[in-house]
Amino acid sequence: MKLVRKQAGARPAAAATSPVAAFLGATVDRRAFLKSSGLALGATALGAALGPTMMRRASAATDAGTHASNAAVEIKRTICSHCSVGCGIYAEVQNGVWVGQEPAFDHPFNMGAHCAKGASIREHGHGERRLKYPMKLVDGQWQRISWDTALSEVSARLLKIREESGPDAVYWLGSAKHSNEQAYLFRKFASMWGTNNVDHQARICHSTTVAGVANTWGYGAMTNSYNDIAYAKSILMIGSNAAEAHPVSMQHILRAKEDGAKLIVIDPRFTRTAAHADHYVRIRPGTDVPFIWGLLWHVFQNNWQDDSFLQQRVFGMDEVRKEVEKWPPAEVERVTGVQEKDVLAVAKLMAEHRPGTFVWCMGGTQHTIGNNNTRAYCIFQLALGNMGKAGGGTNIFRGHDNVQGATDFGVLADSLPGYYGLAEGSWKHWAKVWGVDYEWLKARFDPNAYDGGSGKPVKPMETSGIPVSRWIDGVLEDKALMTQRDNVRGMVFWGHAPNSQTRGTEMKKAFEKLDTLVIVDPYPTVSAVMHERRDGVYLLPAATQFETYGSVTASNRSVQWREQVIAPLFESRPDHTILYQLAKKFGYADELCKNVKVTNDEPSIEDLVREYNRGMWTIGYTGQSPERLKAHQKNWHTFNTRTLRAEGGPLDREFYGLPWPCWGTPEMKHPGTANLYDTSLPVADGGLCFRANFGVERNGVNLLAEHSYPAGSEIEDGYPEFDDKLVKKLGWWDDLTDAEKTAAEGKNWKTDLSGGIQRVVIRHGCAPFGNAKARCVVWNFPDPVPIHREPLYTSRRDLVGQYPTYADRKAYWRLPTRYASIQQQDFSQDFPIILTSGRLVEYEGGGDETRSNPWLAELQQHMFVELNPKDANDAGIHDGQDVWVEGPEGGRIRVKAMVTRRVAPGVAFTPFHFGGRYQGKDLRERYPQGCDPYVLGESCNVSMTYGYDSVTAMQETKCSLCRIKPA
Ligand code: SF4
Repeated sequence: MKLVRKQAGARPAAAATSPVAAFLGATVDRRAFLKSSGLALGATALGAALGPTMMRRASAATDAGTHASNAAVEIKRTICSHCSVGCGIYAEVQNGVWVGQEPAFDHPFNMGAHCAKGASIREHGHGERRLKYPMKLVDGQWQRISWDTALSEVSARLLKIREESGPDAVYWLGSAKHSNEQAYLFRKFASMWGTNNVDHQARICHSTTVAGVANTWGYGAMTNSYNDIAYAKSILMIGSNAAEAHPVSMQHILRAKEDGAKLIVIDPRFTRTAAHADHYVRIRPGTDVPFIWGLLWHVFQNNWQDDSFLQQRVFGMDEVRKEVEKWPPAEVERVTGVQEKDVLAVAKLMAEHRPGTFVWCMGGTQHTIGNNNTRAYCIFQLALGNMGKAGGGTNIFRGHDNVQGATDFGVLADSLPGYYGLAEGSWKHWAKVWGVDYEWLKARFDPNAYDGGSGKPVKPMETSGIPVSRWIDGVLEDKALMTQRDNVRGMVFWGHAPNSQTRGTEMKKAFEKLDTLVIVDPYPTVSAVMHERRDGVYLLPAATQFETYGSVTASNRSVQWREQVIAPLFESRPDHTILYQLAKKFGYADELCKNVKVTNDEPSIEDLVREYNRGMWTIGYTGQSPERLKAHQKNWHTFNTRTLRAEGGPLDREFYGLPWPCWGTPEMKHPGTANLYDTSLPVADGGLCFRANFGVERNGVNLLAEHSYPAGSEIEDGYPEFDDKLVKKLGWWDDLTDAEKTAAEGKNWKTDLSGGIQRVVIRHGCAPFGNAKARCVVWNFPDPVPIHREPLYTSRRDLVGQYPTYADRKAYWRLPTRYASIQQQDFSQDFPIILTSGRLVEYEGGGDETRSNPWLAELQQHMFVELNPKDANDAGIHDGQDVWVEGPEGGRIRVKAMVTRRVAPGVAFTPFHFGGRYQGKDLRERYPQGCDPYVLGESCNVSMTYGYDSVTAMQETKCSLCRIKPA
């Protein structure tokens, strides 16, 4: 497709409101503007990572009146907020104005590289298109209101809903853009409101990873790091287009490649990442399990598995072998479309180049069998003995900058912070940490509800809430079929883009049915415009992460501290301040901040860190005090860029960002754990084994590790997780101080608030969470051994009988959920093309921030669909033409055709960052004046259909059906 040069992306009326927009409204085009304003385009225009010599300094526009004085320039250290790589930035601030930025050349992750988004991040702080003050919709018109009015009206409306329909009728939708402290406060806030109807983006990007990985070996996170990939001898990437989604990660991948590593890319689409591959394999969308079993078929056939690793550290591979036997090369080719020679070549490359790492992203996770996919990937790595090694592991690239942290801190419908779950004991643990009475907390919830399937009573406090993927059903479903008292009537969208979610046409109906819609965000977002509402909508301007400070967790579990760059712009307020002010209106501000100092309605970030340090024992967010995190931020230059260890200096031998688990109290000075499950190191030095989380025996088979243990362990075998009884039995109890003994009595390594149990067992060389085998059979999941199931909307009707989906479920995450009743219908005749979706380098998530950034908007101006020349020719479509992409549930989008062989015949690809147009209609006039993003476009998810993972309710976005015709 030929992109047109941008002349005026914004509507003229809005353009007159700002100097930047004034340029756009005039005859000067964007490139001329950038040139005249002194902004360096070079750094932004490149999609992939840039080496230091290619970087150019960015500075603010003089015409914006930003650096007129000679005041000294302060340098602030912050972290890019556009993806989970976590690149460091030096922000230059003069007179309180962010006037320039440099990529941090001494930062251990990016080493002076930035992608287009990072290089233009200053614009996010100073964005002209930001929401500038609170607003409400009155008779279809946006009206400016004061914060006092906004907080009073919003709280009154939500309290009325709570009064009439119970606390579960209000949904608190949080964000992967919160800092860790804000995410923690958000979960606490929702808990005190009295609901588990709280969730965030992780549900729809990596929830199937978290569930699959945690249930295989203990923790639901990336095991190694971007940097560690440099040690890999082979790299297999499946469903990951890192060159666009995580650009700076490519410098670590290419570093390995330069050292001789083999790069294999498996993807239905020939992506920019695939262009770097030694071996690219195109699979049919939705066939990850057959492909992985096809690889393992060759591994087992050739005895390439690591038998001693399997014997010592893995449970259930025999059952996997039985399943793999069903996937000989001919069947793999029939289902995936990949020939035996290609499958064998990949298996051989991985077997002959160990350690190898395995990278996956949303191409693997967003399926009705996403949890099967992620477990199959883990099993492959276990079979080759690639786990617990530098250069090996599962490098699962998370999406948003703090999606890892927001998940860790429990902005989830099914857990409290630290993956403690929702059991009574979990609530009591956190009530104790928060300093509130458990009975008070309990009384905040509805006392009971009835299971939508069995009709039996359930306790809402201990029942998972509605996941964000299904909020629309929470609004629209017949309430008699739901596992809660009433429908969702109030939605609070806090840093969340609705256009990243499927079933756009039903979402529009849900928006229109709500009693109250509240949007808290630096931008109005698509939530403000994609409906026909005339009232009951509030916009509250949130500050960005550059207008506050705190910590953020990168994909590799390193916790990074951000300094505040500028004061909140316009009338925006930080998330934690808004939370506190709402809590005041709801009457529980004192409970919310019992241990936290509050100044001018702003809870202390440092106090929030200290509070979660006292409670997050499960995953080791206990050792990262504010002081330690700030010291890491000041010493970026002292860390080795491959191992992430400090080499000398004040933090000698600590790992950068104290990647969790950072065990014990801060005083214990644990260095963090760079690579999970690496037994070559003592636990005290970052070593670990697999977690004992699934019992000690299964059907008479030992689940504990055998003769495998972290270096220096006094127990040279497997062992269960530690509690006070085991510590006593081992004769280690007297190693605890008297105060620790008092606190640890009757407790375990997760609930002992003194940290004494952790301290003592680590001193004896043991892992607090036990030492077990990883399990290939997750007996509590619908498919204990991962199996293939055809997508709900499949074009391969010949495979449905043999590989059917699940039966419909009556009560799943509080809602009836459809599987077979959809798959049994044949849509493939009317909708013959497989529709898949993914990311572009220029934009992020729902795209409201990045499409409002003129630097980025220049680069990608149109929503498009990629289709193969054959399909285009058959339909009479030519490149660049407007087409309709129509889905089987009635949604349709009008976009540009991009005719390309990147996709196979019968497959179409769309990016998912667009919004602001709906089924051919331009919604620009619905944005508040001056807040419309420069680039609008149809959301692919208006055409994308129903489908949810069988364990986590992850949405299916990678495999639906469509038809494409000229517009
Ligand atoms: Fe780095 Fe990601 Fe930001 Fe790009 S978007 S600069 S890769 S953190």
